Amino acid sequence: MSGVLDLLRPDLRDFTGYASARRATVSGSIWLNANESPQPSLADQGQSLNRYPEPQPKLLRERMAQLYGVRPEQLMITRGSDEGIDLLVRGFCRAGLDAVLIAPPCFGMYAVCARVQNAPLVEVPLVEQGGAWTLDVPAVIDAVQHRNVRVVFLCSPANPTGQALSLDQVRSLAQALRGRAILVLDEAYVEYSSIESASSLLDEFPQLVVLRTLSKAHALAGARIGALLGDPELVAVLRNLSAPYPVPAPSASLAVAALSDQGIAQSALRCREAVVERKALESALAASGGVATVYPSEGNFLLVRFDDAQQAFERLLAAGVVVRDVRAMPQLQDALRISIGTPAENAQLLAALKQGAVA
Ligand code: PMP
Repeated sequence: MSGVLDLLRPDLRDFTGYASARRATVSGSIWLNANESPQPSLADQGQSLNRYPEPQPKLLRERMAQLYGVRPEQLMITRGSDEGIDLLVRGFCRAGLDAVLIAPPCFGMYAVCARVQNAPLVEVPLVEQGGAWTLDVPAVIDAVQHRNVRVVFLCSPANPTGQALSLDQVRSLAQALRGRAILVLDEAYVEYSSIESASSLLDEFPQLVVLRTLSKAHALAGARIGALLGDPELVAVLRNLSAPYPVPAPSASLAVAALSDQGIAQSALRCREAVVERKALESALAASGGVATVYPSEGNFLLVRFDDAQQAFERLLAAGVVVRDVRAMPQLQDALRISIGTPAENAQLLAALKQGAVA
């Protein structure tokens, strides 16, 4: 036993989940056990979609494990990292009692899942100093020790602020939180960064969980495939909490195809191009009139403060350029988040801002 299950909701410790037809270890040639249609749909295209899919498609699981440098039993395929976030909160937080810790401004789904589970939310704001954002590590450790925190969500590289945590920082946090809380590193954007994934620390820290996704670097946001990496016992428990067939077969086969050697090489190339564009856009925006601050970013986006963010937002919209309005987030009253587009799209964004400034 790794001890990580000591943090699980006590009422779930002997819960085995739904016994779906596909989980039963039986074999045969005539399948009459799942109330499926014996004939395929006319839209089937040879995929046998009249049958329920494997709950965790073996080939995809192996391929993703190889990609992320873990063993298959350390990986659960999820419907995007959004599902991983939800399962972690459900599994480790008793409603009304066990808290979720976040470091705002940050990705909104951590707070949404906490709210749905009625888990108290503990906020340790990021500190902004000299045009950069940092995590208040002592405050995170203090809050975990004193406020009944069960799940800590840290995003690295962080959305929308852009900074990343080094492996040393993750290691010392994981050491401090050992036995107290699940430490979740959301690495949705790690492929665009210069930092190493924290998955190399998983064997050392059973309470560490890493979330990865095919939605960003692998250009498959529409397929809804993510992965939760963690201790095999934790992975097994979370599988019991998930839907019976969480991974649609067409998405799984698409993902396997996308993760061919050629597909992975192409993803890496796209990431390198995005980083080049990010740097160019960062400099160009910093030199643009009306821009107050452009934060350095390790993701495929830039967080930008404007002298007049409303005006900038409207000018961009008028030119057909849609960026993310993050002004409702704490500390970001004058900021917009801009995803890195193609070179032509980025040029149009810059032109729209410039045109506005002259007009
Ligand atoms: N984590 C972060 C930090 C994100 O920004 C996003 C999506 N914007 C997600 C997770 C969700 O990604 P997925 O498509 O894998 O559910």
